[in-house]
Amino acid sequence: MLDSVRVRLTVWYTAVMACVLVVLAAGAYFVLRENSERRTDASIVEMAESFLATVSAELNGAAGSGGLKEGVAAAILEHRFSGTVFVVLDERGEAVSEERLPHSEPGDVTAESLRGVANHVLAEAHPFHTIRVRGRAYRTYARHFSAGQSEGALVVLQSLHSQEEFLETAAQTFALVIPLAVLLAGAGGYFLARRSLAPVVTMSAQAGRIGAENLDKRLEVKNSKDELGQLAQSFNDLLDRLDQSFERQRRFVADASHELRTPVAILFGEADVTLAQSTRTTEEYRESLSILRGEARRLKHIVEDLFTLARADAGQHPLMLTDFYLDELVAECARNVRTLAGAKQIALHCEASKEILIRADEALLRRMIMNLLDNAIKYTPSGGAVTICGGEQDSEYSVSIRDTGAGIPSELQSRIFERFFRADKVRARAESDGGGAGLGLSISQWIAEAHGGRIELTQSEHSGSTFTVFFPATAMRPLIPRLSSSR
Ligand code: ADP
Repeated sequence: MLDSVRVRLTVWYTAVMACVLVVLAAGAYFVLRENSERRTDASIVEMAESFLATVSAELNGAAGSGGLKEGVAAAILEHRFSGTVFVVLDERGEAVSEERLPHSEPGDVTAESLRGVANHVLAEAHPFHTIRVRGRAYRTYARHFSAGQSEGALVVLQSLHSQEEFLETAAQTFALVIPLAVLLAGAGGYFLARRSLAPVVTMSAQAGRIGAENLDKRLEVKNSKDELGQLAQSFNDLLDRLDQSFERQRRFVADASHELRTPVAILFGEADVTLAQSTRTTEEYRESLSILRGEARRLKHIVEDLFTLARADAGQHPLMLTDFYLDELVAECARNVRTLAGAKQIALHCEASKEILIRADEALLRRMIMNLLDNAIKYTPSGGAVTICGGEQDSEYSVSIRDTGAGIPSELQSRIFERFFRADKVRARAESDGGGAGLGLSISQWIAEAHGGRIELTQSEHSGSTFTVFFPATAMRPLIPRLSSSR
């Protein structure tokens, strides 16, 4: 039961409410009691003063010849208040007046006990005291006095019965009202928690109905400004991202199978045609095998590229970082494609002379530069030129590959880094020597980004294109100190 947020909220709310009410009631009870005690004390003092004034008047007045006893008797007659008793003790501690407390038996409050109270109270700084007689509380006030020739002590006892009754009624009222208020608060809390959490229950039911097959469905957002509306909005944004990612994956798989189908179909077709005739010349067999080999190589490239991208997407392509010279790598890549460029009568220039020691994944960087050089040669007609430069400027290392090809139409330039995108599908496929599947630039882009850099088509027009890769120099600082003499 406590697994439900509604119940937990209600329990917490009720418990806090109960604590607050109990503390408030205890505080109120305490204040009431203090207040009533203060008022009683003030009234006792007032009565004592008035009583003694009467005794003094009696002793000093014309009728004063009767002594203390008569004076006290006259004052008692004048001060008959319900629940109040005046007891006067003479110098020897003998009771001058004999008065009994209401509800007390003779002997309950004796002159002896009052003397005890008087002495006890008088000895303390605090002249007030509370005593209990037959279960009833009395507030006592004692003080010395001197009237005329006489001295003595006055003890005033004030019944606390009505105050106690009032406080008891207050306590009973609290004891009745608090559980009732807690009960009401609990019911109200549960109702509120139910109402506030109802949208969460609805959202959870809606979310439970969304799966891979209906990722286009969204949660209903009633009020986008409140917290639950924002939660629903965030969930919908997450679904948007998931939907896009699913869509990309679907397209990737569809494109990949489409790309793989073509070379496989060519392999089958070529093999079927060759095997259709029982006898063929060696020359014909060699020609067929060379076609099969070309397609198999193309297939191998596509599978390798797909594998690289799949691992990159899954974040499972770790970078094997080593320290090496970027200018050497650029020169090595240029050497590797020299034959390819020569075969197409394309002039290849390498302008990377400045020593640049970096820390990066050399194999991946080689693959990226080779991709860009391959493209440059592939899309540049015979007689053209390809130039590769490596350099450093504004705390960035850069490698740029410039060609004199036909360029990329401006409306397609933003899409060339998309997977499987080819600006000119027919021509790209017709290039039998590695006519790409449109994955080269995607992989190059991933390699640049994996090193904290970026790749840009810095220029492309009818006279040619330039691709440039930028790397942040700080992120690629080598671990070992630069030793140019060690080369
Ligand atoms: P592909 O394997 O088709 O070369 P890429 O991803 O390497 O795939 O390139 C994507 C597309 O970008 C190519 O099909 C081509 O149309 C265009 N492209 C890339 N490099 C160049 C370039 N140097 N000159 C002209 N077009 C290019």
